[in-house]
Amino acid sequence: MSGLERYAGISRPYKSGYINVHPIQRGGILSEAARRALLEFGDGYSICDFCPPKEARLDAIKKPPIASFMADLAKFLGMDVARVTTRCRESKFIVFRMLGRPGDTVVVDSLAHYSTYLAAELAGLRVKEVPHEGPPEYRINPEAYAEKIEEVKRETGKPPAVALLTHVDNLYGNLKDPKPVAKICHEYGVPLLLNAAYTAGVMPVNGKDLEVDIIAGSGHKSWAASAPTGILALRGPLAEKVLARSKVQGDWSGRRFPNKELALLGCTVMGAPLASLVASFPYVVERVQRWEEEVKKAQYMVEQLERIEGTRLLGEKPKRHTLIHVESEGFHRVSKTHKRRGFFLYEELRERGIVGVQPGLTKHFKLNVYGLTWDEVKKVAEAFHDIARKYGLSVH
Ligand SMILES: *Cc1c(COP(=O)(O)O)cnc(C)c1O
Repeated sequence: MSGLERYAGISRPYKSGYINVHPIQRGGILSEAARRALLEFGDGYSICDFCPPKEARLDAIKKPPIASFMADLAKFLGMDVARVTTRCRESKFIVFRMLGRPGDTVVVDSLAHYSTYLAAELAGLRVKEVPHEGPPEYRINPEAYAEKIEEVKRETGKPPAVALLTHVDNLYGNLKDPKPVAKICHEYGVPLLLNAAYTAGVMPVNGKDLEVDIIAGSGHKSWAASAPTGILALRGPLAEKVLARSKVQGDWSGRRFPNKELALLGCTVMGAPLASLVASFPYVVERVQRWEEEVKKAQYMVEQLERIEGTRLLGEKPKRHTLIHVESEGFHRVSKTHKRRGFFLYEELRERGIVGVQPGLTKHFKLNVYGLTWDEVKKVAEAFHDIARKYGLSVH
């Protein structure tokens, strides 16, 4: 093998200095404390030096303070128990796997993330979708959960094993109210899993107030933490079912592992990513209080983008989240005759110090303004205006 040195010099394509508006990047930018913790805990199983031999489990480690962190994390989310997993999708898989049996059904909103579908598939569950409305707002009617639960009962003779609501979807950034959905699910005795990948960690989320049974979150998306980190928080008696202990016994040795939580395969994140999540926690607890200001930035950005000829917001209006999906007939028209085709928008933005709008896209693209300063928000808006004018689109 030759040229191996390039791996040692691995670096990111975008240096600091660019404003990165990529939807998945904004909530995962590390706090200073997390950046220090990464170095401190960079070695292998760095969390595990003082793993208590009796429990022998990640959530029991007192030094560093993982046990108290998980208790505080549960409290912060208004839940009884919290665990750290590798990703939001793993949290969902664990829930589907532990609450469903092969052939059971999970009811999901039709704006759900692809990983919701895959988690169900891997757990051997059927998926029943709750439909959404059409453009421009793509809303979901909570009452439709009742219809779909009834449908599952008719088709399979039993209620779904679990229902899932995507708190804010990655397609339009629509915020849904979990409470009416939870009420419907509970009337049928169906637990509700809230996919809070885009909400918990950036905005206030309290599972008890929202009446949800389970919260799945994403550390690298919304908790200023490194990948891979996910959150699984549980309320009520379900916790024991989802975090059931191992029952296996070696047929020759008789060995057993009754302390280990089965679906977590014992332990999950044992090093630097977990340290980053823990170190950012105080910062996250503080920043969710500033959510309203973040929403104002998104509303301002939408207003500015919609001043561009042929450009409109898709998803609910007014915006209640910072992920923005734009439809632009204007930029699309420009792309048809531009020598760089659809890449012109990405390239023009990049020249203006802005990255994160997917290369090649003009008709539909997404951006996220979470955590940008007002100056940065204005710089991004002005860049779009500037590019529009350059190509003869009016900005009114
Ligand atoms: C990003 C995203 C995920 C995936 O999160 P991971 O932590 O990477 O698994 C799941 N659901 C939604 C709604 C998302 O936006």
